Amino acid sequence: MPRAVHVIGAGLAGLAAAVRLAARGVAVVVHEAAGAAGGRCRSYHDPLLDMVIDNGNHLLLSGNHAALAYLETIGSAGGLAGPPAAQFAFMDLASGERWTLRMNAGRLPWWIFDRTRRVPGTSARDYLSFARLLYPSRTKTVCAEVKCAGTLYQRFARPLWLAALNTEPKEASASLAGAVLRETLAAGGKACRPLIARDGLSEIFVAPALYFLSEHSAKVVFGHRLRALGLTHGKVTTLDFGDDQVVTDDADVILAVPPAMAAALVPGLAAPTQFRAIVNAHFRLEPPAGLAPITGIVNGTIEWLFTFPGRLSVTISAADRLLDILRETLAKQLWQEVATVAGLPVALPPWQIVRERRATFAATPGENAKRPAATTAWSNLRLAGDWTNTGLPATIEGAIRSGNRAADLLARS
Ligand SMILES: Cc1cc2nc3c(=O)[nH]c(=O)nc-3n(C[C@H](O)[C@H](O)[C@H](O)COP(=O)(O)OP(=O)(O)OC[C@H]3O[C@@H](n4cnc5c(N)ncnc54)[C@H](O)[C@@H]3O)c2cc1C
Repeated sequence: MPRAVHVIGAGLAGLAAAVRLAARGVAVVVHEAAGAAGGRCRSYHDPLLDMVIDNGNHLLLSGNHAALAYLETIGSAGGLAGPPAAQFAFMDLASGERWTLRMNAGRLPWWIFDRTRRVPGTSARDYLSFARLLYPSRTKTVCAEVKCAGTLYQRFARPLWLAALNTEPKEASASLAGAVLRETLAAGGKACRPLIARDGLSEIFVAPALYFLSEHSAKVVFGHRLRALGLTHGKVTTLDFGDDQVVTDDADVILAVPPAMAAALVPGLAAPTQFRAIVNAHFRLEPPAGLAPITGIVNGTIEWLFTFPGRLSVTISAADRLLDILRETLAKQLWQEVATVAGLPVALPPWQIVRERRATFAATPGENAKRPAATTAWSNLRLAGDWTNTGLPATIEGAIRSGNRAADLLARS
């Protein structure tokens, strides 16, 4: 076991690494630049709505085994809510049609042969044509590998790839789409139950991790931004936080910061440089009874509608086109669609728009090829983060796996 580990960054990658090491009895210090932990996966009190909201609605699937194991370790796995089976309610805003896609639990996908369970207007053969993505080329886009047209694409495949990759399928990496497909749809309905942190991301993913760390004698220092790494003789020897310097001696360092920050700190580091936005809109009102907890929307601007206690929320991925629209205009436009789906009056309730400009790296083949390994040229420095080479798109699952891997590499070395 390494003697002590400094983890830089208290997003989920840094927290996962810290939790794994602290559980093994390693002395851990986490240094976080912000005043709170969670990074891109956090909750906060919004003064406009006067309620706690998340920086973005986060959807997990029951096949996200590293995320679920992390929650088990920190004691909050019970905080994820979702239907007992892999069911996805959908509505087509253009035609008004509604349907529920219902997968069977096992690996043999007999649900695609059942017209009451599959997407209306599709045939079993349509689904089988996506099997090509199970073993895709690393350099191709999704649409270079499979046909991106037709009812199944519009009503299921596009919403799925867009949500998982935060990148339009025509430019998204087939290799990353394939990884998602193998771990979810191809693993059967038992791996595809949708799960959300109903009481908020921080409540489930962050606060219990901080409590776990304090119980295991780990230190978390907030407002502690790493400015520079002192690199001598192939090792990190100092951590420069501006006002104070930490001599690392024989300690190890896990750098779990976003890619631009990591590239500024580590000489010669190649990392993704292109990003895609995610827009969320929150509307304060009690969701109508009978509305599904999560509804996929086709042929609208909104893509997913979530119900929370006292609030309806929508998510739009790869949403860079919406960044410059006036907030009021956007809120009205999105509410019209929400009101149609939920059967609510057109009067706009209290609202908030949250635009995360750099929500994830662009999951294109080119950006995917830039992702570095966890090991570096410096013997006591490891990298973690959803943008490192996890083989998955930028997701909670990828971030947690990257933190676990960095911790395991230290244990091995
Ligand atoms: C709006 C939105 C919606 C999303 N939806 C989903 C979803 O539905 N499902 C899903 O699985 N994933 C989703 N994601 C992706 C998921 O949130 C991320 O993959 C994950 O949170 C990334 O964690 P991370 O630790 O790698 O990075 P980050 O969360 O970015 O953490 C990095 C941390 O490092 C800190 N830091 C930066 N510089 C320094 C420094 N110099 N010194 C010290 N600390 C520093 C930062 O403050 C931050 O806390 C979504 C993301 C967003 C933004």
